Amino acid sequence: MESILSPKRPTPTSLDNPDAPIHRVPVLLPYPFAGAFDYARPADLVLAPGDVVLVPLNRRAELGVVWDRGALPDELAQDAVPAVADAKLKPVSALLDVPRLPESLRRFVDWVAAYTLTPPGLVLAMALRALSTQPPAPTQGWVRSGSNAVTARETPARSRVLAALADGVPRRTAELARLAGVSSGVVRAMAERGVLREQEITHPAPFASPDIDHATPDLSPDQARTAEQLARLVQARRFQPVLLDGVTGSGKTETYLEAVAACLAEGRQALVLLPEIALSAQWLQRFTRRFGVAPAVWHSELGARRRRVAWRAVAAGEARVVVGARSALFLPFPDLGLIVVDEEHETAFKQEDGVTYHARDMAVVRARLAGAPVVLVSATPSLETLANVESGRYRHLTLAARHGGARLPSVAALDLREHPPERGRFLSPPLIEAAHRTMRAGEQAMLFLNRRGYAPLTLCRSCGHRIQCPNCTAWLVEHRARRQLACHHCGHTEPVPVHCPACNAENSLTPIGPGVERITEEARATFPDARILVMASDTLPGPTATAEAVRKITDREIDLVIGTQIVAKGWHFPGLTLVGVIDADLGLGGGDLRAAERTVQLLHQVSGRAGRADAPGHVLLQTYTPEHPVMRALAANDFARFMEREAEQRRPGHWPPYGRLAALIVSADTASDADRAANALGRSAPSGDGIQVLGPAPAPLAILRGRHRRRLLLKTRRDIAVQPILRHWLAATTPAPRSVTIDVDVDPVSFL
Ligand code: ADP
Ligand code: ZN
Repeated sequence: MESILSPKRPTPTSLDNPDAPIHRVPVLLPYPFAGAFDYARPADLVLAPGDVVLVPLNRRAELGVVWDRGALPDELAQDAVPAVADAKLKPVSALLDVPRLPESLRRFVDWVAAYTLTPPGLVLAMALRALSTQPPAPTQGWVRSGSNAVTARETPARSRVLAALADGVPRRTAELARLAGVSSGVVRAMAERGVLREQEITHPAPFASPDIDHATPDLSPDQARTAEQLARLVQARRFQPVLLDGVTGSGKTETYLEAVAACLAEGRQALVLLPEIALSAQWLQRFTRRFGVAPAVWHSELGARRRRVAWRAVAAGEARVVVGARSALFLPFPDLGLIVVDEEHETAFKQEDGVTYHARDMAVVRARLAGAPVVLVSATPSLETLANVESGRYRHLTLAARHGGARLPSVAALDLREHPPERGRFLSPPLIEAAHRTMRAGEQAMLFLNRRGYAPLTLCRSCGHRIQCPNCTAWLVEHRARRQLACHHCGHTEPVPVHCPACNAENSLTPIGPGVERITEEARATFPDARILVMASDTLPGPTATAEAVRKITDREIDLVIGTQIVAKGWHFPGLTLVGVIDADLGLGGGDLRAAERTVQLLHQVSGRAGRADAPGHVLLQTYTPEHPVMRALAANDFARFMEREAEQRRPGHWPPYGRLAALIVSADTASDADRAANALGRSAPSGDGIQVLGPAPAPLAILRGRHRRRLLLKTRRDIAVQPILRHWLAATTPAPRSVTIDVDVDPVSFL
């Protein structure tokens, strides 16, 4: 507080003080500056916080947003930009015809910046990504003019153009030419002769209003009670986080769609976050079935034009429901009445590059600032969320049973020591037998392995050399279909060599271990008659391909699905009754705090794909550790017990969620620079009651993209915030050489 009022600091001239000699406005720019810059307000311009403006910066015109004076949290305001003398202020160039950024979004930007130790401008950049300086231009298209010039000089090409316009919908030149199979010249000539007439293309209401009565569901008593409770929270128009849990297939989606309906009835907007856009195909269908129209979709792969349209529709309140990936949190909702975070336990909600934030946690903040309930949905809630339920901060609603009496699949561990696969193979005999039986019965089977490519490691049988990435501390993964070795960390690829790069022996290189490609090869040999489909990011390049794969499975054009974690998402495959997990132990290695929790969540999610009312599913987990608590929890379907045990293990050491964690990742071009900077941080490490610093130590990925990496972990008791400690720590450390970067990751999810 003191530093803000320090006598050296010029008193800022208030925005709303008309007597001030110069009207200063703080403008936040989407760049990594410490805070907003002051500009002079031209006398003829009326400006308010949230207005999007153009301002001069280094002789360029830049987009910025009029910010609020004194909005930044104290610690941030301290090192904000020094004030410029009145005479040197540059004037705001223009006010843009763009909806104002709502107050709740501005406070959200400030909050995320402070929490993640990111310059606020970089957070603002996420909110402005969809903006361009121009409003979307209305587009003109061609329709038939109805003139009798039509008959004048009929040619097959011209008839095709006219036929393409038979429906009276205006089409642009290029589109029309493509439809009719003619050159653009033909279209233009017809226009010149008056055969075609120009007409504005009005977009077929891109965000039509959802109809809450379109197809109201017949909820079970349990679902109805839960939907009613959610609706009441929405109607209360107050912040309240809720955990909605229940086994896969219990109707969580069905139920929270009723909360969305309640929100629409309140006249407010709703936001549904999904961990991946791949998931959206089936979800969109369900939404459309329920409400008669599609919601607005938001994700980073949206084209620039659609993004611009969606952003404005959200800002104008026309887009009533948005379904999107984590970046949808930064949309300018003027009246947000509900946020749903589906599959809240998913680590995909953590953004790791740029601004590192956890969308699930930030959704709770966004809801608080908007005064709205936030519903976290999962069959396997994170320990973070469970701890918040236990402490009473979050409400808890549960759907007890699978809908329509469908039973949960039976899960059994398959001990690979007892039932080893044949030499050089990975499917154990009981799993092969079960798959045969399933397919013979006309049902579908799935093999799950969370590993892309053919083999995770290539080894020389002559000298024992293992082929490593030239840029990273990682083995290269063989992708046989592409005849490449690839690094999954930096993207480096190279052809599979014939000679060992170390000893030059010929044909001595052997793949070690399986990836999905190798399992597919084995499955084709083992089940020659099966119609096989592979679902992996390498075989399904985008949402369209994913949707088509899902359709094929649903329509029973496939007998055996082989996939990576893509198959674990919330799909419903009614014909699927057997799931074989190739390597249930896979996620348990490594020093990751949440390895066991994540394995249980992932495998439970995969298991949830199997079975329905009349055909219960079976899940076989191939494992070398059937006695591991993870396998036991899965086999007994006792997720709650397992999470209690996790809690017991984390509580004493103040590990999250019973303490706070932040990671500092030091990276440099040379190992010695990295060590020097990391050691300097180590020497100035904070200490005190309930504060602990672990490291520095080489990161598991000690070299990534040619950069040497060291990690330090700050661990504090839950009642001690890490941000002020981190700020002081970083400020107190001697500046590192230029080649050194220090990345801060508050609440780290990845420990690589
Ligand atoms: P969850 O989200 O818990 O996995 P869903 O909402 O996806 O569950 O429901 C699982 C399946 O059961 C879906 O196919 C859904 O359409 C169906 N279902 C759930 N509840 C009902 C209901 N009340 N009426 C009709 N179908 C339902
Ligand atoms: Zn690499």
